[in-house]
Amino acid sequence: MNMNEPAQFIQTTLRGKLLFNEPMSRHSSWRVGGVAEKFYQPADLDDLRVFLKCLPSDEPLVVVGLGSNLLVRDGGIKGTVLLMHGALKELSMQEDGLIYVQAGVPGAKLARFAALHGLSGAEFFAGIPGTLGGMLAMNAGCYGGETWQNVVKVEVMTRKGELKVRTPDEYEIGYRSVKERALRIEDRGAGSRHTSPTGKVEDQGNSSILNPQCLELFVGAWLKFELGDGEVARRQIKELLSKRIASQPLNLPNAGSVFRNPPNDYAARLIEQCGLKGKKIGGAQVSEKHANFIVNEGGASAKDIEDLIGMVRETVEKQTGVLLHTEVRIIGEYEKHE
Ligand SMILES: Cc1cc2nc3c(=O)[nH]c(=O)nc-3n(C[C@H](O)[C@H](O)[C@H](O)COP(=O)(O)OP(=O)(O)OC[C@H]3O[C@@H](n4cnc5c(N)ncnc54)[C@H](O)[C@@H]3O)c2cc1C
Repeated sequence: MNMNEPAQFIQTTLRGKLLFNEPMSRHSSWRVGGVAEKFYQPADLDDLRVFLKCLPSDEPLVVVGLGSNLLVRDGGIKGTVLLMHGALKELSMQEDGLIYVQAGVPGAKLARFAALHGLSGAEFFAGIPGTLGGMLAMNAGCYGGETWQNVVKVEVMTRKGELKVRTPDEYEIGYRSVKERALRIEDRGAGSRHTSPTGKVEDQGNSSILNPQCLELFVGAWLKFELGDGEVARRQIKELLSKRIASQPLNLPNAGSVFRNPPNDYAARLIEQCGLKGKKIGGAQVSEKHANFIVNEGGASAKDIEDLIGMVRETVEKQTGVLLHTEVRIIGEYEKHE
């Protein structure tokens, strides 16, 4: 089967949604980014398996959840984007007391589900506007909670569509970082740096293209939480959301914290100290409300945002000696100018 031929796709047994030249601005919380050559939202886990079996082994593949930690460049994505949000959405209470949650389930839904079942410890998921898959890939966390603290086992799918169950000890889990010990989930390039066509120095620790040879994507997990009081958990979720509204610029498109916190310090503190709050490039602005957020004021391009990231990083390094590393994943092609 040739995945490049739309007609042939339609004739297969695939039940998901296949799109061509899909604007990634629709799937990224910054609301920027060029098109994905091919874009597939599977109908369910079995459909995903069939899709991956059909996909040529050398096809570049990017997995996207809610795109709340992604900057897709204006030249778009060569290859295939797999959308998990709205696709893998099973969420169930198991007989052994664990919650089984599939990769496309949003954090807020998981937090409310746990509270409904009288469990505590899942409240922090409500503050993270991503899917379980994205939270596993990032080891997302806030207010003292981190995704992998609650993981008993994960369900992964290989590029060839094989399903496997893995345990946390098979991964190196750190601050906003998860690597599979034997294979590595992503080819991150270990934080090396290069100079982009824009002349800015960048991390190469941001590639989200799954290495065609050996890599796996998260499709689900079994999570464990303590027995607690559902009413208290619901109250904590409300409080946590109010805190977020008070401290984050949630009225404008953003991708949360742009930079990781350096050891024993805060990226936001350093950025503010360097007088960068409110700095703009095109439609992108360092938020006045939270210095580690960059907001799209309207009409920003991915290049505006990436250039602003570069400017912030260079200024902070020059003024404080601290090199900030991006937490957001930057992917895709630079826009070509004739
Ligand atoms: C307002 C706001 C507040 C935020 N606050 C926080 C916070 O408090 N703490 C925090 O940690 N983050 C925070 N974030 C960032 C973001 O929500 C998290 O990183 C989240 O985990 C991303 O999930 P996602 O589904 O959107 O992933 P995406 O942004 O779609 O993808 C992120 C990365 O995960 C990979 N990925 C996604 N799904 C899978 C999968 N199924 N298998 C393998 N890899 C996958 C992608 O390829 C990509 O590399 C915030 C973002 C916003 C916009």
